[in-house]
Amino acid sequence: MTANSEKTPQTAQTQRLRDARRVVIKVGSSLLVDFGAGHLDRAWLESLAVEIARLTGRGQQVAVVSSGAIALGRKYLGLAEDQRRLEQQQAAAAAGQVLLAHAYQELLGQHGVKVAQMLLTLGDTEDRRRYLNARSTLETLLGVGVVPVINENDSVATEEIRYGDNDRLAARVAAMCSADCLVLLSDVDGLFESDPAASPDAALIPIVHNITPDIESRAGASGTDYGSGGMITKIAAAKICMPAGCATVIANGLKSRPLAAIEEDAPCTWFLPSTTPSIARKRWIAGSLVPRGVLVIDAGAEQSLANGKSLLPVGIVRVEGRFERGDSVVLKNDAGNDLARGLVAYSSDEVSLIKGRRSADTEAALGYRGRDEVIHRDNLVLIGS
Ligand code: GLU
Repeated sequence: MTANSEKTPQTAQTQRLRDARRVVIKVGSSLLVDFGAGHLDRAWLESLAVEIARLTGRGQQVAVVSSGAIALGRKYLGLAEDQRRLEQQQAAAAAGQVLLAHAYQELLGQHGVKVAQMLLTLGDTEDRRRYLNARSTLETLLGVGVVPVINENDSVATEEIRYGDNDRLAARVAAMCSADCLVLLSDVDGLFESDPAASPDAALIPIVHNITPDIESRAGASGTDYGSGGMITKIAAAKICMPAGCATVIANGLKSRPLAAIEEDAPCTWFLPSTTPSIARKRWIAGSLVPRGVLVIDAGAEQSLANGKSLLPVGIVRVEGRFERGDSVVLKNDAGNDLARGLVAYSSDEVSLIKGRRSADTEAALGYRGRDEVIHRDNLVLIGS
């Protein structure tokens, strides 16, 4: 297989980035930081800002997962090459993250694009309760057209509790916000049949439908260092995205206008999902989680659900079982019919306190102001739908 022989199917993929409603872009340290000098490559980030503004300008929602905090912070703090103890790296991340976030804010701000910083740890994407918090913050930011600039919270993360590479973090973020497309900007064109450094004639693999052991072995072969993870973590990222309905593209960020280049059919590697983000998410909510309880709802709430609305406290008649915020529950009507499944925003104790009340009255019952919905419609799947 050569890159050319797949030219036609590849062309069909160029629309994917243009058509994506929600895009996550992962930027590696090797693109953003001039390692010799240890400072931010402003010209590169300026050109990326133009591209991001082009995407947001045509109505697309964009989140950026950016590396670079540790490299920038090390230089800023004047750490020597051999000063790489955990606490020194954590301190570097704390210092460098400010520089990084500020640069994004300034350069995207020049195009009228607002940014917000989110620092995540492994637990924020793996633990369902924390996942729901992170997800709703992301949704809120994306919904108002702000670009979240995300990194791992390296100043508190230790080896046992960290991703360590932003490829997989970006994939979790893409799955978490049901993105249609994850762009992994790298310093090579994509995945090759064999190490392009060793064999310059090695062919690029333009499209991957399934990540087979053969594909994984190609990652090992193209083993030059592209950030901390190399191709192996990029394939791991694609593996997370594919079942979530999100397409992943590895592309060369060293080219000028790398996002436009993807749309213009530049060489890159696409990993294609077999489903859409919304179907994948519904499947996950409906099928993969063990329900921890039951909410019996009244006829008004049953009707609202059928109309695509969220479940409010006022429509809940009875609570059965013990569950925590983020758990999966079954919704039933009084006749005992299963109506839906969803992820709850409150524990069973809390729902018992607020059931039957209007959302405006829940603060008095709980002693704090929580969310209006017990299950947001994005976290709800009607049975049979
Ligand atoms: N989170 C790290 C940083 O900001 C980078 C991890 C990676 O390069 O994948 O420095």
